[in-house]
Amino acid sequence: MAQQKKAVALISGGLDSMLAAKTIMEQGIQVEGLNFFTGFCVEGHTHAIRQKEGVRPKRNNALWVAEQLGIKLHIVDVIEEYKTVLINPKHGYGANLNPCLDCKIFMVNKAGQWLKENNFDFIITGEVIGQRPMSQRKQTMPIIARESGADDVLLRPLCAKNLPETLPEREGWVDRSKLHGFSGRSRKPQMELAQRFGFDDYAQPAGGCCFLTDAAYSSKLVDLWQNRGHKNYELDDVMLLKVGRHIRPKAHFKLIVSREEGEDRFLQGYKNDFISLFCTSHNGPLTLIDGTPNAEDLTLAGQITARYGQGRGAEQVDLRVRFPDGREKTLQVKPLTPEQMPKEWFV
Ligand code: SF4
Repeated sequence: MAQQKKAVALISGGLDSMLAAKTIMEQGIQVEGLNFFTGFCVEGHTHAIRQKEGVRPKRNNALWVAEQLGIKLHIVDVIEEYKTVLINPKHGYGANLNPCLDCKIFMVNKAGQWLKENNFDFIITGEVIGQRPMSQRKQTMPIIARESGADDVLLRPLCAKNLPETLPEREGWVDRSKLHGFSGRSRKPQMELAQRFGFDDYAQPAGGCCFLTDAAYSSKLVDLWQNRGHKNYELDDVMLLKVGRHIRPKAHFKLIVSREEGEDRFLQGYKNDFISLFCTSHNGPLTLIDGTPNAEDLTLAGQITARYGQGRGAEQVDLRVRFPDGREKTLQVKPLTPEQMPKEWFV
């Protein structure tokens, strides 16, 4: 009896990878999902930090997709290895700091390693030709297959009919006639297929699957790199860029000011790593200071913090400064006005 073939699907949490996996499952292939955690993902606990977006459920969409499909999902931590992709991408960055082509090559390569270790037969992705300007173009499809080392073990079920036959098609593991020939930026064919499969709830397609496609996030990362004088980073650095207002009044220190309660609680977790400030006379945000402020800088930090609290119109606001070693001091400041805060301060 022929052995059942097994495919590993890259699952981002979006609609395309969900449809690609389902298309292959419909052909009787066993599918398991792989999701890579780079530190920049929008998924997971990042969604849970802010309270605001109450309308949409807070969930890890990759896990949710796997649950809808009824497949196993393997979440793989690639934070360390991903640094080389982001810091020095061979194919460069997209509109922001997103190294999409290198990122795809990296992920398909990792999937290829996983495939060998776990005795699977081929890799599937939700790529569609022409869908994204950087990584999903007709010319980049063979580059990803070649440079990842996956070659024709990589099948893109949503646009396979526009591409040369792959090993799973040639070997008859999958029926090419039942694959798709989607191309271009329109989402209509995907929506129709989703309807056919009975998926009525899925993550809305956004600019990309990670924060690196976001202009505001990218400018904060550039600021971090510039002020440190190197491009290296730790997970905490990139997590903190997702939270709060980032204000750099002087080159040697930056403030991270919480915007709401969820961020407040998140930043509390870093009180032992950074100097923190909060208002005691009025309700106000929690601020972390990244850098080496002197006494005068602390007063300025207090004035900025007070400007975002309920004492913003008061003559005096009291604050407490807490140092990572547990020492504390109090401050009395007059809050800055918006006019006293030049726009160059805002990262
Ligand atoms: S959007 Fe982010 S995760 Fe997605 S391919 Fe581009 S760099 Fe990679």
